Amino acid sequence: MGKKHIVMDIGGSKILGAVMDEDNRILFRVKKKTRPDQGVEAVEKRIAETVQELLKQAGLQKSDIAAVGAGAPGVIDTEKGIILFSPNIPWRDYPLGPNMERATGLPFVVGNDVNTGVLGEWKYGAAKGFSHVVGIFAGTGIGGGVIIDNKLFTGSRFAGTELGHMILNTEGPYCNCGQRGCLEAYTGKHAITREIRSMIVRGAKSNLLESMDTEDATVKSGALAKAVKAGDPVAVAVLDRVGYYLAAGIGNLINIFNPEVFILGGGVTEATETELMPIVQRYLPLFAWPAMLSDVSFRASALKDDAILYGAKALVLENGH
Ligand SMILES: [Zn+2]
Repeated sequence: MGKKHIVMDIGGSKILGAVMDEDNRILFRVKKKTRPDQGVEAVEKRIAETVQELLKQAGLQKSDIAAVGAGAPGVIDTEKGIILFSPNIPWRDYPLGPNMERATGLPFVVGNDVNTGVLGEWKYGAAKGFSHVVGIFAGTGIGGGVIIDNKLFTGSRFAGTELGHMILNTEGPYCNCGQRGCLEAYTGKHAITREIRSMIVRGAKSNLLESMDTEDATVKSGALAKAVKAGDPVAVAVLDRVGYYLAAGIGNLINIFNPEVFILGGGVTEATETELMPIVQRYLPLFAWPAMLSDVSFRASALKDDAILYGAKALVLENGH
């Protein structure tokens, strides 16, 4: 009998952990706050506690678990388990993998969260069975990953692929990364919130900004989706603009990578999927070459919030556990 896995999605605000069985079913889940402000040791301790709680809940011993797999934000050397840099947890050249192996007594494999999500969709989700895949996840930030010829592409120093920071307009709005006119600066949640605010300032009526996400001061994806469905003109116009710029970014990627399948996922996409997907598809012919576009199957994420958890299992298997 095969062993089970513990899979984790370690984010800047939440640590999600789950026990996954041999048939890739999620059996138990544990969620904790990351609290990176308390320091890296405290974060490590909570990751280890998540593993312990999962074992306890599932009534399992360490010997029942093949390995722990995790997706985390940042530039990560998966082979060595070292986080070279992370944008929202103060990890710099940080040996998270070796530290967690010591703390948990289990093999611990960690990869970039967005790449792990794409890996999940490729192995178990919407891109299963394909060899050339590109995925974009649109939420607070815009992330993406690329599978080339059945292999996740991460560049020469594990920093690939920052698809959300392709520059669509050199004189565009400033992005969190310091550049101007990135895809994220047009389609991330901060951009969406800025656009809504600007329309309201110019006289448009909308109650979209009444219930904000307190964590990052952006409009909630669910509220945006609800307003779009109710025909709120501000929400409809803003989503159309997001769809237009996403189509520009996706069109570039289709022309560059010629994928068989393109996956669109992430919090904003999931909440507004039935509206956003057709908008993107309507604008795509403006940007993608016809021959490329006819080759690609355009799909919504199948694993949704669990893409990173499934990807973590794929990551562990790819690394020999
Ligand atoms: Zn950027």
